[in-house]
Amino acid sequence: MTTAPLVELAGVSKYYGNIRALEGVSLEVRAGEITCVLGDNGAGKSTLIKIVAGLHRHDAGTFRVDGEEVTLANPRDALDRGIATVYQDLAVVPLMPVWRNFFLGSEPTRGKGPFRRLDVELMRTTTREALLRMGIDLRDVDQPIGTLSGGERQCVAIARAVHFGAKVLVLDEPTAALGVKQSGVVLKYVAAARDQGLGVILITHNPHHAHLVGDRFVLLKRGVMAASHTKDSVTLDELTRQMAGGSELEDLRHALERPTGA
Ligand code: ADP
Repeated sequence: MTTAPLVELAGVSKYYGNIRALEGVSLEVRAGEITCVLGDNGAGKSTLIKIVAGLHRHDAGTFRVDGEEVTLANPRDALDRGIATVYQDLAVVPLMPVWRNFFLGSEPTRGKGPFRRLDVELMRTTTREALLRMGIDLRDVDQPIGTLSGGERQCVAIARAVHFGAKVLVLDEPTAALGVKQSGVVLKYVAAARDQGLGVILITHNPHHAHLVGDRFVLLKRGVMAASHTKDSVTLDELTRQMAGGSELEDLRHALERPTGA
């Protein structure tokens, strides 16, 4: 039995005036799988995220969520359908504790009328438990989120999306600003989200990171699909070569070569 993908784009295009940001892009993400979208600057990655996150409408092609064709009205619509997007510049309040950021905008309260107040204890324990469930053992959920490393903050954002019931997690270059070790930690939690049955769309320009965790790979170049692979159909070397623009690099090498014997 094959079920419908959680998210499926088929021949999706997007134009900004007469600029072609995306043309005929197709991809799918299934529950318990990671689909990586690779591409250099200007490839159309952000545009693709904006369509899936409900910020922009596609101009052509079909976008299906759980098998149903949709045009998302706004980011709330995407969230209601279980699509959560974690952006690189996480919207957090640095001086507020981790637990406060975890519940930002969805704070539970206790008491009624004038006695209504934030249920701080519930937020603290729930945050701790939700993080532990993802295997994140944070020393102290009371510390300001601004004191966490970039990687830890990404992990908290992933755990938050999982806790609030996301079915699809869209990650916008979560390792772009991180060193090797922190990138590894973030990728571990991306895999943990997948293991909990979420479908993950991982945007990256790093073929190594993609190949470590990805089940499917879509390579974008100047808005069009340059390649599409499944894990068994592509090696890391091949993915890296395609991402680096194999022949373009070869041309560059020739252009940079010093004349010998001069
Ligand atoms: P990436 O995220 O891979 O760097 P983008 O999706 O940001 O790529 O951009 C794809 C193309 O669309 C680029 O040529 C970019 O200049 C263009 N583009 C993106 N957003 C807009 C916009 N709001 N208005 C006009 N052109 C845009």
